Amino acid sequence: MKVIVLGAGVIGTTSAYFLAKQGHDVTVLDRQESVAMETSHANAGCLSYGFSSPWASPGLPLNLLKWFLTGRSPLVINPNISIETIKFLYRMYKNCNSKSYEINKSRMLRLANYSRQALLEIESDFDIQYEQRRQGSLQLFWDTKEIEKAKRDISILEKFNIHYELLDTEGCVEAEPGLKYVKNKLSGGLRFNNDFTGNCYLFSNEIYKKCIEMGVNFEFNTEIKSIKINNNKISSVLTSEGEFKADCYSVSLGSYSTKILSQVGIKTPIYPVKGYSITLPVLTDQDAPQSTIMDEKNKIAITRLGDRIRVAGMAHLTDFDKNLRTKSLESLKSGLDLVFPKSYEPSENLNYWTGFRPSTPDGTPIIGPTPYSNLYLNTGHGTLGWTMSSGSGKLLADIVSGNQPEISIEGIDMNRYSFSNKTRKNYG
Ligand SMILES: Cc1cc2nc3c(=O)[nH]c(=O)nc-3n(C[C@H](O)[C@H](O)[C@H](O)COP(=O)(O)OP(=O)(O)OC[C@H]3O[C@@H](n4cnc5c(N)ncnc54)[C@H](O)[C@@H]3O)c2cc1C
Repeated sequence: MKVIVLGAGVIGTTSAYFLAKQGHDVTVLDRQESVAMETSHANAGCLSYGFSSPWASPGLPLNLLKWFLTGRSPLVINPNISIETIKFLYRMYKNCNSKSYEINKSRMLRLANYSRQALLEIESDFDIQYEQRRQGSLQLFWDTKEIEKAKRDISILEKFNIHYELLDTEGCVEAEPGLKYVKNKLSGGLRFNNDFTGNCYLFSNEIYKKCIEMGVNFEFNTEIKSIKINNNKISSVLTSEGEFKADCYSVSLGSYSTKILSQVGIKTPIYPVKGYSITLPVLTDQDAPQSTIMDEKNKIAITRLGDRIRVAGMAHLTDFDKNLRTKSLESLKSGLDLVFPKSYEPSENLNYWTGFRPSTPDGTPIIGPTPYSNLYLNTGHGTLGWTMSSGSGKLLADIVSGNQPEISIEGIDMNRYSFSNKTRKNYG
């Protein structure tokens, strides 16, 4: 079957890989000159299978209040707030209760677990190098209240057989020797031994090269303008470079999916939550992170990528404004100083980056069929698109091919939204 994938971020690229592996004739369209040039370019690099959680949690409203009062909020909202931002915040707020949190986390863990297996499948298919490390990840606790909160997650982790260890401060330093300078400030940590780290941009490029070998056609510098419908089916995609036709179409346009899909009456509640990263050279190995460290209190992640450290985080609700906000970058830098004070080489030329997380209010991506029989979605991966990419690509390929997916898509497809049009198929 001829399939067009719209978007060549990590999600579109892995979709193309699994579609090609299942024997389809695949074309990928993207406005950039190569793969992973937007949100998949310089994210935090965590493959956080065990840590997968929605941002909307019971404690979030109170945390927001505290952050605003202390003036150190990782979440910043533009003063001239748009209707889209208000809608997103309201929908997210509706998910900030224990019941929704448990449901949403369970859905994310189902896909995350599957993604880990799918990534291992890719690694067994061919030799792929993306600065990967398999040393787990560590969530830090700065006070005992955070440990109590984490206990709520532990019952869900156990339900999904996610391997974890609760560590005391000694254990944290043993896992990450660079934490020795802040040992006295820590209360402990939650370690996920089966988490990985890696460079999402390198991974996407390696997948791209393999896709080329498998005969996938990439059309870069191609701006998608609209999707054309005929007889309740998609008939073509109109772009700056002309019209493209296929039997099936899959949308992976990240935060821009909503705009294109709304043209054909499909409502997806995806909002561009802007985040930032800084990449710095390692000064001394033993003072630098060995893997990924999550500081949930300050909402930052710190990852080792080769001879560099990447610190990433912040949530800036500003619609599609791409400006680098100096204050957010300073907060990231002080977040790194707090955890690994002697880890990086001071330099004037640090690598600053910003990207839009394609976020749904419940944290789970949207994968599966639509009311149009030949249009599929693989989008809305928010904070964890790199983690979920391999499983999402494989799931999408099975759905497009008409195979029974290996995991249930209940709660992962668009049927979970009451305002969306119900889709024509229900799997598993
Ligand atoms: C600061 C930050 C840190 C993060 N850290 C992590 C992490 O540690 N682990 C993790 O799992 N995830 C992380 N994420 C999330 C992850 O990066 C995203 O979920 C993921 O990159 C989304 O991939 P995507 O392919 O859906 O979107 P994108 O990478 O944005 O790809 C969408 C593609 O569509 C193309 N496109 C859009 N509109 C058009 C159009 N009209 N015409 C043609 N092409 C178009 C774009 O050019 C782009 O290539 C982080 C995100 C941020 C911002």
